[in-house]
Amino acid sequence: MTFPPDLISRLRATPKLVALTGAGVSQESGLRTFRDSQTGLWAQYRPEDLASPQAFARDPKLVWDWYAWRREAVKGARPNAGHYALAEMANHIPEFTLITQNVDGLHHMAGNQNLLELHGNIQRVRCTNCYTLAEAWDDDTESVPRCAVCSGLLRPDVVWFGESLPRAQLEAAVEAARACEVFLSIGTSGVVQPAASLAHAARDCGALLVEINLDPTPLTSKANYFFQGKSGEILPELVKVVWDVS
Ligand SMILES: [Zn+2]
Repeated sequence: MTFPPDLISRLRATPKLVALTGAGVSQESGLRTFRDSQTGLWAQYRPEDLASPQAFARDPKLVWDWYAWRREAVKGARPNAGHYALAEMANHIPEFTLITQNVDGLHHMAGNQNLLELHGNIQRVRCTNCYTLAEAWDDDTESVPRCAVCSGLLRPDVVWFGESLPRAQLEAAVEAARACEVFLSIGTSGVVQPAASLAHAARDCGALLVEINLDPTPLTSKANYFFQGKSGEILPELVKVVWDVS
């Protein structure tokens, strides 16, 4: 793949870059989307019966078990070359902000630090009562584990249907998008809001908009550059060409 010289020089010179990643990046690590994970006994449920505050209030164990099943699927997954390319990119750009819609924690595993997880992370849980976060809990019980601080029920630290995105993360994402010089949209359909509007906010503030995706999206006509294909192949090539590393 060849990259336009203008893009290469802009990337080399930019002090501020934002990358937004979506489900496509996780899929290249073999992870299924929420809906594609609904196989076997889970197929009978509507997504909102497994991932909403109402569902958790009605049947916390069902929701807990669904996330235990999803966590099990994530356990065997490893970051792909695209995740590592983004971690490498962060070494070359003074202000690099990675925003993700993915909840699997693979960016963390690949070494990215400045990370905004807009939809949370299924490897973490939090107390429904006092909001204390936990990364370890007792899973050997018949019922949903409880908070070590206040004995409230623990829930996955993810954004459910009908819930708002975490305010601090979203504000930081909007701020970074408006301030960046280059915005990369990677492996995302460009239709999930408000994440999709971040690309438009960046573009409106004068950022160069670069999209990498398997297929064109509603964003593609607005992008300065569109690269069609796998992020796990395109990103490592791009990083190699721009910063002369592999
Ligand atoms: Zn608590």
